Amino acid sequence: MSYDPSNIFGKILRNELPCHKVYEDESALVMMDIFPQSRGHVLVIPKAASRNLFDADPAVLAEVMPLVQRVAIAAKAATGADGVRLAQFNETPAGQTVFHLHFHVIPMYEGVDLGSHGGGKADDGELAELAQEIAARL
Ligand code: AMP
Repeated sequence: MSYDPSNIFGKILRNELPCHKVYEDESALVMMDIFPQSRGHVLVIPKAASRNLFDADPAVLAEVMPLVQRVAIAAKAATGADGVRLAQFNETPAGQTVFHLHFHVIPMYEGVDLGSHGGGKADDGELAELAQEIAARL
């Protein structure tokens, strides 16, 4: 299947929709997931158009992974999490719901189960605060 630019992350990347931005450079956007699976759930989105891992340019993957690492370290420090889970879904049966390549950075807390994927919407004030706190540590 080919890339469809009308996906919601495409719209956010084109500034057609708002987001709780953590970081942006010429090749990627980092933002809060508004239906977080844990406190501090962040998405790292390469700007290059690709549906998922299958059609991604390896050069884009090579460029984005150091940023994923920085975001994981910053999110752990900002939230006081005990660990961080990375997730990345490819096609609907694997759990993908937005068809623009992205990486989930999900802080994990000792003794706290992960929330459901695509669960309830988080409070905007809390997301804005977390975005600032993670950005400050990048
Ligand atoms: P995936 O299932 O891997 O495609 O993940 C898509 C993620 O995007 C889910 O975790 C959603 O909670 C999240 N999401 C959907 N819409 C938005 C939005 N407008 N802003 C931020 N995150 C979103």
